[in-house]
Amino acid sequence: MAMGREQRAAGGRADGGSGPVAATIATDDLVRWLSRFAELVADRREYLTELDAAIGDADHGINMDRGLSTVVARLPDLLADGATPGSFTAGVARVLISTVGGASGPLYGTFFLRLGGALGGEAAVSPETFAAALRQGLDGVVARGRTQLDDKTMVDAMAPAVEAIESALAGRAGSSGLGWAAALRDAAVAAAAGRDRVTPLIARKGRASYLGERSAGHADPGATSTILLFEALRDAFAGSASSI
Ligand code: ADP
Ligand code: MG
Repeated sequence: MAMGREQRAAGGRADGGSGPVAATIATDDLVRWLSRFAELVADRREYLTELDAAIGDADHGINMDRGLSTVVARLPDLLADGATPGSFTAGVARVLISTVGGASGPLYGTFFLRLGGALGGEAAVSPETFAAALRQGLDGVVARGRTQLDDKTMVDAMAPAVEAIESALAGRAGSSGLGWAAALRDAAVAAAAGRDRVTPLIARKGRASYLGERSAGHADPGATSTILLFEALRDAFAGSASSI
């Protein structure tokens, strides 16, 4: 049986005491994240594509599933030569950029590329370093997409999720294993709330913006796949079901 996150973290403790367990993030955690993201997207491939049919060109679920199933298929290569969190994530970015296509391929690719760069060459990082790397990833998407909050894109789910992690870590239980799991639960909830918040708005970026007022009232496909990105991150550390 695979050792659970909590057990593994506890096993790594130096003091053997009963206080908060320090969480660290290693390559196998990120493998669980990407594998879970691939699973959630594959399950909701038709749903994501239907959302894109309403305000785009009906390919978002297909694009994301193609990219993420390629990531899973290439895991042995991506993990060759003792991959670090940074090098693994940069490898994921390269796969997504070359296989997803559409607007979302370069954007998710940029997210993972910036994330990987910010994770550096360490074998494991703290939640604080990981949160700062997520912020870099978000900034990369904003720059690459020339987008901002309320344009009704993936950024409207990603920004509140990153903020939720940052504020949870700024709280007292931030670096404990339990604090990290709670931060990730908050992030998944914030991503979904962010997507829902902009659903009534008129899209200002991407294909949906061509529809003008007719885009209002439809959920954004990229913001919806971003909910899955953060649900997968939550599940990689805590394990629980998707809400969508
Ligand atoms: P395409 O629109 O090229 O068919 P996808 O359907 O795969 O690509 O992805 C569409 C999603 O990409 C949108 O729902 C939106 O969230 C996101 N998106 C599009 N343009 C931008 C942008 N400029 N900045 C951020 N996200 C964007
Ligand atoms: Mg599309």
